[in-house]
Amino acid sequence: MSKIYPTIYFDGRLVPDDEAVVHVASSAVLYGLSVYTVFHVTVNDGGYYAFRLKDHFKRLVDSCRIIGIDTFGKEWSYEEFEKDMKELLHANKPTENVFVRASFHVNEKLPGTRSRGLSTVLSAFVCDATSIIPTDGTRLKTSVWRRTPDFSIPSRAKVNGAYVNSVLARQDAIDSGYDDCILLDSSGQVAELSAANIFVVRGGTLITPDTNTDILEGINRKTIIEIARSMDIPVAERAIDLTELYIADEVFVSGTSSFLTPVINIDARDIKAPENGITSRLQNAYYDALLNPDSPYVTHL
Ligand code: PMP
Repeated sequence: MSKIYPTIYFDGRLVPDDEAVVHVASSAVLYGLSVYTVFHVTVNDGGYYAFRLKDHFKRLVDSCRIIGIDTFGKEWSYEEFEKDMKELLHANKPTENVFVRASFHVNEKLPGTRSRGLSTVLSAFVCDATSIIPTDGTRLKTSVWRRTPDFSIPSRAKVNGAYVNSVLARQDAIDSGYDDCILLDSSGQVAELSAANIFVVRGGTLITPDTNTDILEGINRKTIIEIARSMDIPVAERAIDLTELYIADEVFVSGTSSFLTPVINIDARDIKAPENGITSRLQNAYYDALLNPDSPYVTHL
């Protein structure tokens, strides 16, 4: 379990841990009606550098638009959001890199199964930047569970309730001795992990499932595609068969809480990336984009 810092942003105020609560009868609790994001903050020389904060804000707004939560974009501008996150970090004063999880909850009590015109609250807390999978090489199992399709619970929206799908699949993988799962979409194509996107290298081309494969449009995924293109590595966004993973030259995953992590085994088949392969070249450039205070991707808070 990673450590949660003591001061929490809740409903426009900084409060102690035990005051940041939503009601048991709220839609957030009853129906999982909260949208959220997690972003990385590098601590460097006492300064806080948030990774792609504007993209995280936009994804929160877009998730609200998909679900039909109509207050977020009206109540918070990006500038206010940035100011709130800055105050949260300065109140907690982390000395090591952290994650910030910002959630927008529907906290109306007993409104029934609907989403518009309801009261809402923004919360955010700071925790250790601990990866959810082993970053020196991770082992994956294809899940018996399938990714929820866009016509059921859209993966493009980062909504709390949808994570039951991820929990089912990841627990199944852990029970079988693996670190995480691979979720296929409803037609059997590779989608993503429980909380990370997936990339494959075949014959020098970097391939990742396109955004119509019931994936979350990961901000790290987008970053890696941009970095690869800038390094003249050919990139294809297309449907991937499961068996392509088994014969891939390299496989890695990306996500805020899994960074850029090589995959070393899928369904009992070993994968060994070459020492100076595409994964390791991208890893160096990715960590520079994430951790360097001069990176164009970070906002100084
Ligand atoms: N897919 C899912 C289901 C996730 O929960 C995450 C983590 N947010 C990702 C992919 C990776 O997204 P990001 O790069 O924005 O962290």
